[in-house]
Amino acid sequence: MSVKDLFDLSGTVALVTGGSRGLGLEMAAGLGEAGSAVAITARREQWLTSGAATLAAKGIDCFATACDVTQPNEVDATVAAVIARFGRLDILVNNAGVSWGESADTMPLEKWRMVVDTNVTGCFLMARAAAAAMMRGGRGGAIVNVASIAGLVGTPADVLDAVGYSASKGAVISLTRDLAVKWARHGIRVNAIAPGFFDTRMTTGVLERSRAAIERSTPLGRIGRPGELQGAALFLASPASSYVTGHVLVVDGGATAW
Ligand code: NAP
Repeated sequence: MSVKDLFDLSGTVALVTGGSRGLGLEMAAGLGEAGSAVAITARREQWLTSGAATLAAKGIDCFATACDVTQPNEVDATVAAVIARFGRLDILVNNAGVSWGESADTMPLEKWRMVVDTNVTGCFLMARAAAAAMMRGGRGGAIVNVASIAGLVGTPADVLDAVGYSASKGAVISLTRDLAVKWARHGIRVNAIAPGFFDTRMTTGVLERSRAAIERSTPLGRIGRPGELQGAALFLASPASSYVTGHVLVVDGGATAW
C-alpha cells in the first residue's frame, strides 16, 4: 500500500454525530474528501440541512438524519438507517457534545446530568450500536471519540468553568481506552481526539471572555484554525493508523505540553 493509499477512504462509510456544524461538519468534510460516503446526525434539522448542503457542494455522497444521541431507540434507528442507505458502516466519529458553564460549587444537578448524558452516555450508546453493526459486517472498523483537553487537565475558572464538561470528557477518554481493549478482537479500533480551543458555536462565549488568556497559555499562541482537526480525524479513521488503538491524539497548539 502506498502512503497516499493509507489515507484513502474510498468505498468506506462514515457516521459523524453532531456533524451538522462546527468541528463535526469539518471532520465529516475531511473524511468525505478522502473518499468516504458520510452520514451526519444532530438533533436540529436547521443545521442538518445546511451541513448536508455543505457536504453535497463538495461532491460528497452524504445522508443526514436527525438523532438525539441520548435516546437509545434513536441511536439504533440511525445506525440501521445508515446501513439501509449505504450498506455498511466503517467509521464512527462520536462528536456530538454539549457544555454548561457554571461555577463548580453551584453547578445545577440537571445541567450536570444533561452534559454527562450527552457527552458520555450518548458516546457509549452510539459506539455500542456502531460496533454491533461493524461486528455484523465482519470488516472491523474505526471509532473516533471527540474528547477535549478539558478531560486531561483542570482549567482555571476564568478560562473554562464547566466542571460537568471536564468530567464528561475525562470519561470519554477512559471509555475510549476500555472499548479499545474490549473490541480489538473484532478489528475495531477506538481512539480519541482531544482538541484545544476552536471557534465554534460552543465556544463563542468562552472565546469572547478568555481568548487572550487562552492564546497566552498556548505555545503556538493561537486557537485552532478551521481545518486543523481534519488531519487528526483522517489519521485515526484510516488505515494510516491501523496499529493505533486506545490512543488520545491531542490537537491543542501545545496547551497541555507544559
Ligand atoms: P457545536 O458547534 O455546538 O456542535 C455540537 C454538535 O453536537 C451540533 O451538531 C449539535 O447539534 C450536536 N449535538 C448536541 N447535543 C446533541 C445530542 N443530544 N444529540 C445529537 N447531537 C447533538 O460545537 P463544536 O465545538 O463543534 O463541538 C463538537 C465536539 O467537539 C463536542 O464534543 C465538543 O465537546 C468538542 N470539543 C470542542 C472544542 C472547541 O473548542 N470547539 C474543544 C474541545 C472539544 P444539535 O444541537 O442540533 O443537536
